[in-house]
Amino acid sequence: QAKEQGRDGWRFFSEEIHEQARRRLDIINGLRQAIERDEFQVRFQPILCAQSQIIRGAELLLRWFPSGGEVSPAHFIPIAEMSGSIVPIGKWVFRQACLAERQWRDRFGVEAPYVSVNVSARQLNDEALVEEFRRMLAETGADPERILLELTETSLMSDVIFNLSVLNQLAGLGLRVAVDDFGTGYSSLAQLLRLPLSKLKIDREFVDGLDKRHDSRAIVHAVCSMARAMNLKVIAEGVENASQFGYLRDLGCDYVQGFHFYRPLPPEEFLALLHETSATGRLAASDDLYSL
Ligand code: C2E
Ligand code: MG
Ligand code: MG
Ligand code: MG
Repeated sequence: QAKEQGRDGWRFFSEEIHEQARRRLDIINGLRQAIERDEFQVRFQPILCAQSQIIRGAELLLRWFPSGGEVSPAHFIPIAEMSGSIVPIGKWVFRQACLAERQWRDRFGVEAPYVSVNVSARQLNDEALVEEFRRMLAETGADPERILLELTETSLMSDVIFNLSVLNQLAGLGLRVAVDDFGTGYSSLAQLLRLPLSKLKIDREFVDGLDKRHDSRAIVHAVCSMARAMNLKVIAEGVENASQFGYLRDLGCDYVQGFHFYRPLPPEEFLALLHETSATGRLAASDDLYSL
């Protein structure tokens, strides 16, 4: 009897693995056709100046809707990186960032927010990347100095010497570079700081701990002081409540982003928000514009 059950248990287990592999394969194949099928959309999550709470930027976040459903980027991005689809997808995403930068600047001039866009390490290995980014910037008329490339700490550290040369070329185009999810990797600070960086994004994990754990406050404090000394700006992501925001402001964090302020918004809603804030004078004062 026990033997029987064991066998059934095994069969169930192996079917489950089969099913998982099949779903993964569906995603790999689906991602290959997603651009031509027009299944991607973008969202923009506002990034605010911590002191004035003025909207200074927005992070472009990718959304995928394959035939009716929705798959989270936390799930499909790693698969796209593994299968190589991230290269064409990343180009599509960068083009959307360029178009947005151009559109916002056309409407709001110097008050327009900058665009932050996620870039995978895998994209840096694509020989054509720098040339394609240059071409898209030229074609769209986007201002590279108002586009911030977010690379995760882990991906930057995967091959520092190689990444350094690509990032220097991208910075040569005028693009800005930020370290995303800072504090979660095991990077050598000395190596990290050789990169042409303008911002550090403190990972959500530390923001989450601010009102619960003493060590999170110490870490955020240390990151902010270090950033100041290195002339880098600090963004905190995943700010979910007023108490976390209070700590961040007191600890000297420059920018904040999170559900406490805004969720990632569809492009039309983000534009409407900009019009609304601009009309009430709350977009003005471009004091820290070039500190991007
Ligand atoms: P990320 O770059 O660290 O982006 C921040 C994530 O935190 C986003 O999740 C955002 O929706 C979420 N978030 C923002 N505020 C809060 C908050 O207050 N609380 C909580 N719990 N979450 C918050 P999302 O959009 O699901 O993206 C997940 C990850 O997928 C991103 O993490 C990024 O690594 C990757 N990703 C998204 N879009 C792209 C893309 O276009 N290209 C690449 N290469 N990766 C992308
Ligand atoms: Mg990001
Ligand atoms: Mg992040
Ligand atoms: Mg994160």
